[in-house]
Amino acid sequence: MAISFVSHGAALEVTGSKHMFTVDGRQTLVDCGMFQGRREETDRRNRELPFDPKQISDTILSHGHFDHCGNLPSLLKGGYEGNIYSTPATRDIANLIMLDSAHIMSKDYEWLSRKEPGKKAYPPIYSARDAVETVGHFITVNYRRRFPLASGLQCEFYDAGHILGSSVVVLEDPKSGCRVAFTGDLGRPGMPILRDPEALPPIDYLICDSTYGNRLHDPIEDAQRQLGEVIRETVDKGGRVIIPSFAVGRTQELVYFLHLLRDADAIPELPVYVDSPMAVNATGIFKLHQECYEEKVHQAFLDHHKNPFGFEKLHYVTDVSQSKQINERKEPCIIISSSGMCEAGRILHHLKNNVGDSRNTILVVGYMAANTLGRAIADRRPEVSIFGNKFPLRARVKILNTFSAHADYRDLAAYVGGLDPNRLKEVFLVHGEEDAVANLAQVLKAAGVRKATPVEPGKEYELRP
Ligand SMILES: [Zn+2]
Repeated sequence: MAISFVSHGAALEVTGSKHMFTVDGRQTLVDCGMFQGRREETDRRNRELPFDPKQISDTILSHGHFDHCGNLPSLLKGGYEGNIYSTPATRDIANLIMLDSAHIMSKDYEWLSRKEPGKKAYPPIYSARDAVETVGHFITVNYRRRFPLASGLQCEFYDAGHILGSSVVVLEDPKSGCRVAFTGDLGRPGMPILRDPEALPPIDYLICDSTYGNRLHDPIEDAQRQLGEVIRETVDKGGRVIIPSFAVGRTQELVYFLHLLRDADAIPELPVYVDSPMAVNATGIFKLHQECYEEKVHQAFLDHHKNPFGFEKLHYVTDVSQSKQINERKEPCIIISSSGMCEAGRILHHLKNNVGDSRNTILVVGYMAANTLGRAIADRRPEVSIFGNKFPLRARVKILNTFSAHADYRDLAAYVGGLDPNRLKEVFLVHGEEDAVANLAQVLKAAGVRKATPVEPGKEYELRP
């Protein structure tokens, strides 16, 4: 009996990852991400799952990003009673992300119903209670601990090196010996804090993400040096460095680099503020899961009983009044705050207070989607709109392209090239827009992969042993 798989969402697009594996009529779902797009389509596609949750035997979560875990509560609402397997760190990150999502949906609904009473407001897809109940279904298993699923398949997590706790999910049918791996999102070698993506055992099929299937990143080795340079230049002018950053992952990487820079005396001793309650919670999860760290973190910090995420003059801010106090002080400092694309949150206050001063630097370290304030800043528009008011953009804008948690096409080709070519029959490409998938398919074929297939949403593929 062959394993078959269907990609619901995240085929030729990058959100709402859901992959169903079926063997002997029993179903295993890998990931249940939230689809993000236009309001009406978003509501419909997230509310009505493309399968019956009651028929699923097991669910596996590759990592805690919203587009992979964000819609797990809808499974339970649809009658799913099974377990959700993940690594321990992924469970904790997913917990934070799902609760945050429930909170945002409920706030948005309240605000829209009040502001535009005549217009259709979409009620939250799930509540905070649904998210909490979902966390109760998790069973956590660490990397390289093989375990059986109710579907009859065996499962094992390999480190994906993408975010804390992220895994490549390897499924094996013990009857036929057929082995298939799903990358979730593959990270890059050399990323701070995390280990490099781990080598896989021989596999027959790979289902591979292609987010950056047509892109190359600047080398990550430069990130720390460039960060130091920007800080020194800004402090020399008496300015402040404002860094809009995603609360989970990027913020901890920045703090980690700043700590290394301080220890090496490569930047002056100045106040650093991490101003985001979500980032503070995420950092707590990072501190807890030392089993996910690369060796360097142990050598630089843990072996000396030092906390990688804490140093002199680093302040974590949760309180609103403390957040406001930062702007009353005038000395050079570094402010890291969210949201990453400057769409909401406390970063807006810091931008409002600092964009007009040419001594300051706004440091862009992440992707800024079209039509966001973050994009307007990255594009260096002469004027930007914050809270409905126009502000001149006089601060220097510096963009660092070195920070990315995703493998580019060279990394992906190297990863696939490391697999046993005698065993690998086919690579299926998911989680990428059309150009990225097409380019990656070509790159992989040129590298000698027998078959690289862009996956069509909803189509069933047979994986023969
Ligand atoms: Zn991801």
